[in-house]
Amino acid sequence: MLILLDIDGVMVPANSWKKPEFHDDGFPMFDSRSVRALQKIISETGASLLLTTSHKSKYNIAQWRNIFKSRGIKAKHIHRLSSNSLHSSRKDEILDWYMAKHIPNEEFVIIDDDKLLNGLPTNIKNNLVLTSSSVGLTDELAENAISILKNRAYNYA
Ligand SMILES: [Mg+2]
Repeated sequence: MLILLDIDGVMVPANSWKKPEFHDDGFPMFDSRSVRALQKIISETGASLLLTTSHKSKYNIAQWRNIFKSRGIKAKHIHRLSSNSLHSSRKDEILDWYMAKHIPNEEFVIIDDDKLLNGLPTNIKNNLVLTSSSVGLTDELAENAISILKNRAYNYA
């Protein structure tokens, strides 16, 4: 199982009125509620992270592991989409991943605040959990993500 994870607007809510807070590693702090919500999805499903965030290529996997670990998230595996050298939209990046890399029947959920993802084909959009940019990932949305990951799995069982 995979969580296609965005960070800005998901783990780091966009508060235009508030200065972003940074951790010692130079990357923004994650919202504590979003951390609890993401950890809950990981604990209940064992899903791996597939980073879709525009920051994905700034750090290697070992650095990402540390970034998540020091913010309280224990992920078994962390992967990232290939670098977005063509400056594609998030929607096209996810479509490219789905066409080229998605393993049939592997459950996945897309957690992102990019509303253009509503334009994904229905079979992919059914796996979308859209956050509000200023709020980020909440407990309620985490429950949606868990049911997307689990219900489909039951269908194949
Ligand atoms: Mg975002």
